[in-house]
Amino acid sequence: MAKVLCVLYDDPTDGYPTTYARDDLPVIDHYPGGRTTPTPKATDFTPGHPLGSVSGELGLRRFLEERGHTLVVTSDKEVRGGAGSVFDRELPDADVVISQPFWPAYLTPERIAAAKNLKLAITAGIGSDHVDLDAAIAHGGGGPPCSNGVESLGEVAEVTYCNSISVAEHVVMMTLSLVRNYLPSHQVVLDGGWNIADCVARSYDLEGMHVGTVAAGRIGLAVLRRLAPFDVKLHYTDRHRLPAEVERELGLTFHATAAEMAPHCDVVTINAPLHPETEGLFGDELLATMKRGAYLINTARARIVDRDAVERALRGGQLAGYAGDVWYPQPAPADHPWRTMPHHGMTPHISGSSLSAQARYAAGTREILESWLDGTPIRDEYLIVDGGALAGTGAHSYSVTR
Ligand code: NDP
Repeated sequence: MAKVLCVLYDDPTDGYPTTYARDDLPVIDHYPGGRTTPTPKATDFTPGHPLGSVSGELGLRRFLEERGHTLVVTSDKEVRGGAGSVFDRELPDADVVISQPFWPAYLTPERIAAAKNLKLAITAGIGSDHVDLDAAIAHGGGGPPCSNGVESLGEVAEVTYCNSISVAEHVVMMTLSLVRNYLPSHQVVLDGGWNIADCVARSYDLEGMHVGTVAAGRIGLAVLRRLAPFDVKLHYTDRHRLPAEVERELGLTFHATAAEMAPHCDVVTINAPLHPETEGLFGDELLATMKRGAYLINTARARIVDRDAVERALRGGQLAGYAGDVWYPQPAPADHPWRTMPHHGMTPHISGSSLSAQARYAAGTREILESWLDGTPIRDEYLIVDGGALAGTGAHSYSVTR
């Protein structure tokens, strides 16, 4: 029987909801490109209810306990001394760990080494960089065992595509809100004011601007498609070029690198995974090559940009705005400089955890667990690491250092 250890974010501060803003969700059964949304054999939750917080339990308890498995759910995940977090205490005999980018239980090499039974790490969402993929690969077969001689974690899987459109919508919202100076103008209303000049002093039209994405995968391409009707000039960089017909349809300009693209853009949106090639990409040097007054939107991963370089660029006027929902570490400490830097439109990590997205990533997590527990293959597109190597989506989108 398996022990499944699930780390989720805390319930709402007023407790788990009993009423909801809307009665239903649109039914979406295919993603752009035709792949189906998750297809578990059954689900035990109501779409539209919170599933990503502790009491939601990703809708997994009945399913797992009826089969005789154990489910432990906690939000207590920080590394600390003494008795340690609930996550650290429960980890040594867990077979499966489920975590989320929004509230990541960092699976460091030390934790992987301590998790003697761990065979599968599932990301209930997209982006498995909170799992040390080098260590997962080393411990999954083929590589050297951990320092204590234990071979463990063999598979890393995520629910590919489950919240890509959710994030793309967030990027469009943040782009418009920065360029049009929405948040400060809304604050004027909340403060009882009416100074139009204060509101419009930093307000522009997006129309005609050059907008570029670093990566044109599921999210990046969805952002390009959603922004095209705004009559902007679209740019992208990616490791692989998009089909010529897509470039023609959207009027895209391709650049071989982010460094080549950045100086041409009024708005840059980052939609690449965090891995050794992208870590620290937007530092002082690259930011200095951007147009003065450019906007940078990052919903990918915080460490793709240099935290302090972004703050300097905003204070110095090189960037006119920065927005995103990804921080390092998460949760961000109260004194994180991005909370107080000027001209930002940050949210906590929420773009991929709308109630709509939660229904998909909960169903996808269940689908992965059903496959794994039944000994049938996990969908290839969900795989990041399998048997000691990058696999499936992981082989396409990630790289490792070893
Ligand atoms: P995809 O795998 O569909 O796309 C990633 C793209 O990044 C691929 O086209 C890949 O290129 C490209 N890429 C990888 N490395 C580089 C590089 N060095 N330079 C340029 N392009 C590169 O992923 P998604 O679009 O679904 O998600 C992207 C990222 O967004 C995730 O990895 C995750 O970190 C983040 N995310 C954030 C969420 C949030 O809630 N804020 C939710 C979901 C995802 P190619 O395949 O051509 O090699």
